[in-house]
Amino acid sequence: MYNLILFGPPGSGKGTQSEKLVEKYDLVHLSTGDLLRGEIAKKSPLGIEAKKLIEKGQLVPDEMVVGIIDNCLEEHKDAKGFLFDGFPRTVNQAEALDRLLGLRKMAIDSVLALEVNYDELVKRILNRGKTSGRADDSDEEIVRKRFAVYHRDTEPVANYYKEKDLLKIVKGSGTVAETFEALCGEIEQAV
Ligand code: AMP
Repeated sequence: MYNLILFGPPGSGKGTQSEKLVEKYDLVHLSTGDLLRGEIAKKSPLGIEAKKLIEKGQLVPDEMVVGIIDNCLEEHKDAKGFLFDGFPRTVNQAEALDRLLGLRKMAIDSVLALEVNYDELVKRILNRGKTSGRADDSDEEIVRKRFAVYHRDTEPVANYYKEKDLLKIVKGSGTVAETFEALCGEIEQAV
């Protein structure tokens, strides 16, 4: 069992790298952003609620994403491990994740944080917005709001894992292949 958190600001490449990592290491990919967009597409009550917040660049309530993660852990009892992408985004979520994993005799093994400078992040997101159709990637004001929320609510999560000696910083500004290689290097050291 190997449970990994891929951490980093919006646009740091978490989604792209997660897809490659889950394939290589046979992990179950849990992206709360993707799961919420799935709920929005289904027009479920949760999706309708989440849409309003996501479009404003705000986080959805902790209970909402913690509930989604709880259900997914329950659905994949035979998993070899999980890759958490875009979760946890608050210290409260990190604590809830520890509880959910603890109940199942599991724990987080590594937290890999992708580091990319701010100008590059904004450029990547606005570029992605041209093709992804994501409203929260296309409007510069909403993108700025997402960074402010990241700074205020999500950056402290890095410290939470640093104190547990689980955090490793990985340079995310190179090519997709270079970043992937760096991430695999860290994973192989950890397992
Ligand atoms: P992402 O695809 O990870 O960038 O997520 C897109 C949006 O979904 C975020 O800007 C939040 O509004 C919402 N979201 C995704 N994951 C979380 C989370 N763990 N906690 C709260 N909101 C989230």
